[in-house]
Amino acid sequence: MPTVVQKYGGSSVADVQKIRKVAEKVAATRRGGTDVCVVVSAMGDTTDELLSLAKQVSPAPPRRELDMLLSAGERISMALLSMALQDLGVPAISFTGSQSGIITTDAHASARIVEVRPFRVQEELARGKVVIVAGYQGVSSKKEVTTLGRGGSDTTAVALAAALGADCEIYSDVAGVFSADPRVVPDARRLDALSYDEMQELASAGAKVLNAQAIEFAKEKGIAVHARSTFGGPEETVVRGGSHPERIAGVATQKELALLAFPAASLPEVLARLEARGAAAAEIAAAGERASLVLSLENVHDWPVLRAELARAVPALSVADEGLGAVSVVGTGLSAAHRVLRELTTALEGLGAPPRAIFTSALRVTACCDAKALADCARAVHRKLVG
Ligand code: ADP
Ligand code: ASP
Ligand code: MG
Repeated sequence: MPTVVQKYGGSSVADVQKIRKVAEKVAATRRGGTDVCVVVSAMGDTTDELLSLAKQVSPAPPRRELDMLLSAGERISMALLSMALQDLGVPAISFTGSQSGIITTDAHASARIVEVRPFRVQEELARGKVVIVAGYQGVSSKKEVTTLGRGGSDTTAVALAAALGADCEIYSDVAGVFSADPRVVPDARRLDALSYDEMQELASAGAKVLNAQAIEFAKEKGIAVHARSTFGGPEETVVRGGSHPERIAGVATQKELALLAFPAASLPEVLARLEARGAAAAEIAAAGERASLVLSLENVHDWPVLRAELARAVPALSVADEGLGAVSVVGTGLSAAHRVLRELTTALEGLGAPPRAIFTSALRVTACCDAKALADCARAVHRKLVG
């Protein structure tokens, strides 16, 4: 029997009615003769709410306890979906990441999957059950519960699809991957197909619709990822191997960033301190005696403490983290495309938000700027470069 892994994101399971609708959709697939393993995210904004609770208790919550707390969100939705399926007469069972054999590194809050041992999932699928797995979480070799970083349920789905030899479908509130966030840029177009590299760059530049680590995993395992809308039609975006002729794939924006500037000689010290707290630099540049780096704060839950620690260790360090964002243009062959850089900087200047830093690579041009200008800049640049 063919097997499919279907992942439903937070907005798809935001309330009881939506959970029932997802159950009906899963039941129809199962009745059509396909084994189904479902990966679920936490309901609606549950993860944000749990994070906010933790921060009310402590400005720097211990990362182990944070993972115990955040992993509870997905546990709620997995159990409710299993109940909804059984209520429809479909045999189902839910498992945590640990029970599903998702083995990770021990980097709390941003763990990476190192192995999947899905024995219990396979046993229950063989018994004819729909198996529901809590996304975003796993267990380390020391038997500690870990989480995979925000948006990590996508990674759970891809990793399980690889381990089960299954197809991978990611369902969310948009009909696939667009040339920009369709909520911000109304002219954005859905892309039928994207290469792994294009999608990985879009995701790390802030296109939340698919998670960057999930795509990295899909590339490594050669899994095609189908992104669709949960309650919409059959349109989709397929992310798979192969390359596209030179083109601009899309525009993405990102918030919650910090820009650090410091003497180049302090780079090893700064990197060591970031690493010790599990914070990964998104972009690094060094020229002459100065170095700068951009840090995504999305998975750094103790930033005030880390920031103070860095300031003590490197007195010449300057930090911009108030309302800082970035706009990126992603595509193939961009390093030679001066036009992209020109349009991006012109748009930002015109909005009174000149670039605070610029980073370029073969697949991406990124400008850091005041977060207030992000939406207008994305619309302007999309109009000029994507059409
Ligand atoms: P889920 O909760 O299902 O995982 P997410 O909120 O993580 O969903 O991702 C879906 C959201 O991603 C959409 O609502 C959309 O606003 C946003 N998004 C950002 N960039 C893009 C893009 N390029 N294409 C489609 N959606 C995008
Ligand atoms: N619930 C987690 C988050 O909000 C994981 C996910 O949705 O993929 O980031
Ligand atoms: Mg998501």
